[in-house]
Amino acid sequence: MATRKKTNARTVGFKPGERNVFLHLLTACNLACIHCYINPSQHGTATLPKETALEWLRLFARPDRLTNLVLLGGEPTLHPDLAEIIHAAKAMRYTVTVDSNGFLFHDLLEKVTPRELDFLSFSLDGPDPEVNDPIRGDNVFVTCTDNIRRAVKKGFNTSVIYTVSNRNIDHLHRMPPLLVELGVKRFFIQVIGLRGKSAAAQPGITPNLQVEPERWLRIVPQVAAEAAGRGLHVTFPKVYLEPGDVFECAGRVAENYFIFPNGRVYQCPLCEDHPIHTFSIENNRLVKRDGINEDRFFNLSIPEGCVMNKLLQPDNIEYLPDGTPRHCISCCLLKQEISLNP
Ligand code: SF4
Ligand code: SF4
Repeated sequence: MATRKKTNARTVGFKPGERNVFLHLLTACNLACIHCYINPSQHGTATLPKETALEWLRLFARPDRLTNLVLLGGEPTLHPDLAEIIHAAKAMRYTVTVDSNGFLFHDLLEKVTPRELDFLSFSLDGPDPEVNDPIRGDNVFVTCTDNIRRAVKKGFNTSVIYTVSNRNIDHLHRMPPLLVELGVKRFFIQVIGLRGKSAAAQPGITPNLQVEPERWLRIVPQVAAEAAGRGLHVTFPKVYLEPGDVFECAGRVAENYFIFPNGRVYQCPLCEDHPIHTFSIENNRLVKRDGINEDRFFNLSIPEGCVMNKLLQPDNIEYLPDGTPRHCISCCLLKQEISLNP
């Protein structure tokens, strides 16, 4: 009989001093996932030239502080200079992750080493082609898992991001054995966003991908614990605060930059569909913008928790008969981590 190993779960607060830089090198992609969060009307269609990408990396580099850099797109491996950008980022002392859809264009695995790329992250939304491919595209499952195997064989640290929606939540429990078999180290369970195509879903017109709170709470923490019991390091968003939890907005207490190739720099990912970015990059300088932008909302305190969630998705908030919200919604950047006890 299998022995259940003890796991250690904790909510990851916003760590003082930690910085996260999410650099979208381009918005182009070879796929057309049904929940794609890229919004060309807001983020443009540009690809950052290599020299500009390096200038922008210099702008955000703080070699004396832990700074996590996530290179993403669109599909970042479509960028012909991605390997050189990774080399340069590592020289600037970033901790570097690439978020890929799994196609690994331009022979990325031959051009960088596991020493300079700290994590290679793959997006997979199902444990088999029958679940994954209707969401992400034909033959994506096979291509992605083949490339995960190649990356693991070459010694790269790999992670998988699973975006939970009502199309795939019932298959989440089949992911942990697959990830163990593939040799993946970290498992990020993500909630379907309020951005791009999924935000545009209209009842009766386009499929609603959002997951109801009870279903999320019934399934996700349990699968996360099971995955951790198999030795995976699991991270998933808190989403619903429990009584006694203190609400915090990352825009107030953490340093996150979500940078798009058109120069927009957001502090909150929920705001990315709207021209309310706090900063913009102009002539390779970071400029704070005047006016009513996302940062004006971060200090508002409401019983529903996250202000942007309340503004953008009010129908998703349930209220008790006395008018108080059934759940206080946490910051989307607040995570829970779960792994085997040391
Ligand atoms: S891989 Fe990413 S960028 Fe490409 S279509 Fe899917 S969600 Fe959008
Ligand atoms: S998701 Fe909500 S709580 Fe988090 S940074 Fe954005 S506005 Fe603040």
